[in-house]
Amino acid sequence: MKKFKRHNSIPRKKTVTHHQFLIRARKNDMKVSIFGNNGSASQRVATALKTGLTAAGIEIDSLNPDIVVTVGGDGTLLSAFHHYSDRLDKIRFVGIHTGHLGFYTDWRDYEVQDLIDSLVEDNGQSVSYPLLTIEVEYADGTHSDQTLALNESTIKKVSGTMVADVYIKGELFESFRGDGLCISTPTGSTAYNKSVGGAVINPRFNAIQMAEIASINNRVFRTLGSPLIIPADEWIRIEPAKSTDNVLMCDQLSIEGRPIKAINYQIARQRISFAEYRHTHFWQRVETSFIGRERP
Ligand code: NAP
Repeated sequence: MKKFKRHNSIPRKKTVTHHQFLIRARKNDMKVSIFGNNGSASQRVATALKTGLTAAGIEIDSLNPDIVVTVGGDGTLLSAFHHYSDRLDKIRFVGIHTGHLGFYTDWRDYEVQDLIDSLVEDNGQSVSYPLLTIEVEYADGTHSDQTLALNESTIKKVSGTMVADVYIKGELFESFRGDGLCISTPTGSTAYNKSVGGAVINPRFNAIQMAEIASINNRVFRTLGSPLIIPADEWIRIEPAKSTDNVLMCDQLSIEGRPIKAINYQIARQRISFAEYRHTHFWQRVETSFIGRERP
């Protein structure tokens, strides 16, 4: 069987002197925010990173950063994404993982100095991925501002089964009955979506996916019964049968619990950008995370 070529070992850059660091950092005039979680490992790495960046002449600025370095896991990067979601056009993200490699985290905690070298030599290289917009229409006639999700949005019911009509591009598609529905981005396809049987999608596709969470399929209730993927010029509308008692999630955040009339989902105009100092093949990342077979 053909194996994916491994190229997670990038060539190490030449060591530069402290003086060269300062000149390059000033030339770049880059501002960096360090966004960590409360774990002791994350705080230790964040402190080392801050010391190293300051020594390299890079300004730490959590209000108006050019680059946000997260220290933790994919969950930490999700939190940083929501923290800076109104500045996505100005920011690139970089993730350091304090455990295993993640889906949004390309750097390991013992590679802090390599990352500082890359930041000093930064020339704006980036890669961007699609996001999901969520717009909620409430039963009282008001509607929410558009909210962005990096992984997914789920709609479920607190107790009992959720009944909802699903429209695609304005046409009634199916009437769902079951635990809930999960609408995800390509980068979120390896998260909740995968746990409910959704397909893993390469994030180069500009698409969103809807996966069912335990749908009831019998002679009375009938849904497609498989995940579906729609392109950027289509949208999904979900109208829950009862406006109360629904739980609407956007990544790890719950959206205000007012009675909901409908939720509209589409690919967002905005995208998330990452500083691409190294490239990990998407399918290699998937294989390492979920299969991880022993190699001879
Ligand atoms: P959490 O419950 O503490 O952790 C969820 C797990 O999902 C963590 O192991 C996290 O990785 C991983 N993860 C997050 N984004 C991922 C991605 N894009 N691809 C693969 N794995 C990913 O919650 P959290 O850390 O705040 O993350 C919130 C996310 O949890 C939600 O967006 C949802 O996708 C996921 N979730 C999954 C289920 C499920 O699978 N049944 C249920 C609820 C929520 P790290 O360890 O690197 O942080």
